[in-house]
Amino acid sequence: MVKKAIADLKPYTPEDTLDALKQREGLSKLVRLSANENAFGTSPRVAEALSKWGFTGANRYPDSNMTTLREAIASRLNVSADALVFGNGLDEILALLSRTLVEPGDDVIVAEPTFSEYALNAVVEGATMVDVSVDSDGVTDLASFTNAITPKTRMIWICNPNNPTGTFVSKAEIAAFMKTVPASVTVIVDEAYIDFTTVEDDPSALSLMAQFDNLVVLRTFSKAYGLANFRVGFAIVSPTLGNQLERVRLPYNLSTFTEIAATAAFQDQSFVTKTVTTVAAERKKWQQFLTDQGIAFYPSQANFIFFKVADADGLAATLLKNGYLLRSGLGDNWLRVTIGQPADNQAVQEIIAAFVK
Ligand SMILES: *Cc1c(COP(=O)(O)O)cnc(C)c1O
Repeated sequence: MVKKAIADLKPYTPEDTLDALKQREGLSKLVRLSANENAFGTSPRVAEALSKWGFTGANRYPDSNMTTLREAIASRLNVSADALVFGNGLDEILALLSRTLVEPGDDVIVAEPTFSEYALNAVVEGATMVDVSVDSDGVTDLASFTNAITPKTRMIWICNPNNPTGTFVSKAEIAAFMKTVPASVTVIVDEAYIDFTTVEDDPSALSLMAQFDNLVVLRTFSKAYGLANFRVGFAIVSPTLGNQLERVRLPYNLSTFTEIAATAAFQDQSFVTKTVTTVAAERKKWQQFLTDQGIAFYPSQANFIFFKVADADGLAATLLKNGYLLRSGLGDNWLRVTIGQPADNQAVQEIIAAFVK
């Protein structure tokens, strides 16, 4: 018999393939602005590195330790190599953390709204979710997180910047929050979009780990690095937790193919900088546009913006007919748009302006 927690679970809704969607909608062109992918592609160094590899050793198991990628990241982030745990996408790390840490009946605190996979994985382990509404500016409300902590609390998720609101909390705020959290509670800061922030020189919670043993920081190659298809993400953890996670991790969860791609992408920081600079400039234009139109939105530090209109379903349908897919279903009459290439942003804005007029 299936676990009770799973019987009632709503599965994560993955994206349709572009081809399937184009066929269904009878479209010749479709731009996906619904999944927060990198609209500017992938570093050309990735294809170069993969073709050099030439598939020698495809019959052999990969390096379970991801040694090359591990050393590249540890050295650049200035963390110890054994502080890193790699996953088949950050998705796998989310599952691994819940699987390792959460017992049935534990409380897990998340923002509402936030990335749905935190709850999905916690519920699979039999946890009770404690949803704490974001504040009126869409910002994760850490003071209310503190008030929600009980002896049953096991895990707290902070998505920063938060998906889908795009809002950011500073390292100083996270540090102050950490002081209110018992050492037995693990706080996970998901920094999937941290590269896109422009408000602080050092926006990451990483440097707080020296001070707080119960802090975990997550990163992915799927967004700023443009490698969503390759499935690679990682956690930066304390040595003790690293050891425990390694007991649960599947031994060959990433391929050599993935390791080569991620290492090449990581070494091309100029591609990341270019992406981030363009996204920041386009984000500014987007926010100006929404302000001018009188459309409500949350101030974003990510590569997407969450905004509210009177008829989100109608607008999404109109955009789709014109070849643009946005993300709906994350809030009543809210839509999330991934910041795309300048010409696409302009085109989408024109369609929105005509629709809300
Ligand atoms: C996209 C995303 C992830 C998952 O990333 P993958 O590495 O592609 O699995 C994790 N957390 C947040 C907040 C995301 O938006």
